[in-house]
Amino acid sequence: MLKDVFMALSKNQLLTTAAKKYGLKLGAQTVVAGTNVEQTIKSIRELNALGISATVDNLGEFVFEREEAIKAKNSILEVIEAIHENEVDAHISLKPTQLGLDIDYDFCYENLKEIVAAASKYDMHINLDMEDYGHLQPSFDLMDALLKEYSNVGTVIQAYFFRAQDDIENYKHLRLRIVKGAYKEPAEYAYQTTQDIDANFIKLIEYHLLNGKFTSIATHDHNVINHVKKFVEENQISKDKYEFQMLYGFRKDMQVSLAKEGYNFCTYVPFGDDWYGYFMRRLAERPQNLNLVFKQLFNKRTNTTIGVFAGALALSRLASKKKK
Ligand SMILES: Cc1cc2nc3c(=O)[nH]c(=O)nc-3n(C[C@H](O)[C@H](O)[C@H](O)COP(=O)(O)OP(=O)(O)OC[C@H]3O[C@@H](n4cnc5c(N)ncnc54)[C@H](O)[C@@H]3O)c2cc1C
Repeated sequence: MLKDVFMALSKNQLLTTAAKKYGLKLGAQTVVAGTNVEQTIKSIRELNALGISATVDNLGEFVFEREEAIKAKNSILEVIEAIHENEVDAHISLKPTQLGLDIDYDFCYENLKEIVAAASKYDMHINLDMEDYGHLQPSFDLMDALLKEYSNVGTVIQAYFFRAQDDIENYKHLRLRIVKGAYKEPAEYAYQTTQDIDANFIKLIEYHLLNGKFTSIATHDHNVINHVKKFVEENQISKDKYEFQMLYGFRKDMQVSLAKEGYNFCTYVPFGDDWYGYFMRRLAERPQNLNLVFKQLFNKRTNTTIGVFAGALALSRLASKKKK
């Protein structure tokens, strides 16, 4: 139930607009690295000092205005230059809807192409994050078009989709991130139970580890991580063929200990003022994350749900007042 509420909140346009205006709130600062490039480079340096690389996401999605998409493109170009100039170990994750996929396919392609071209000068990888089912095939089409000219592109396979096995076989020559899947998808084309999703997740990871180019195993699930550790040992898969990934601010101790154990580790570092949808999806995935949030806000573990709703409502009121 709570999952559905947070998922609905994540898509609320009024709250998204308000959140952008009023800065990192509701404890989002625990899981978002900052609102500007300078703060983000500082966070990446701290991760690099722990032996952890970063994939940087300039937050933003479901953009419907050309201006906004161009602004996002320029921010990503700025981050690419900053990563290069500061010589930090990082690459880029981005969402096609942020660059205008919902506005016009060709417009989005041109924006993406500029980014991929800029990154390729520095041999920097660009990951196309995967969004909801409606954007899945257009995102693969964009990637196919980019791959005709560039090789520094990869994407994400979401284990909850029935078609994931076909997609992973199709793209085994690429660097792929494999995840369970973050959006609410209907039973028509996605597994619904934790057991089914987890089983497919393991199957896809094993497939790509054995047959694929490079595998990013993106999960906070210690059962999956322990399974992978055993699997790579039994199958003598060398460490340069895969990495673990987690989101910034989650299971920090485990991130550091995996890196210390000698595994390649990459943290997903989101930054920017468009943090609201990302943050609500994290709460939908794991309502216990509210504890993290409210330890920040109140320095105690009580009343979490009420607090977030109060915060969300306050933002909503601010937004509607401004609209009037
Ligand atoms: C780096 C990265 C990139 C991603 N990119 C995408 C993308 O492009 N598209 C997309 O759809 N989704 C993406 N996701 C989200 C992903 O699909 C899942 O929704 C999300 O990772 C939650 O699933 P999980 O595998 O982490 O574990 P869950 O299924 O959420 O948790 C499984 C178990 O792990 C343990 N656990 C989980 N989190 C914690 C925690 N914080 N503290 C303690 N224990 C915990 C608990 O025991 C829990 O029961 C990404 C995730 C990561 C980490």
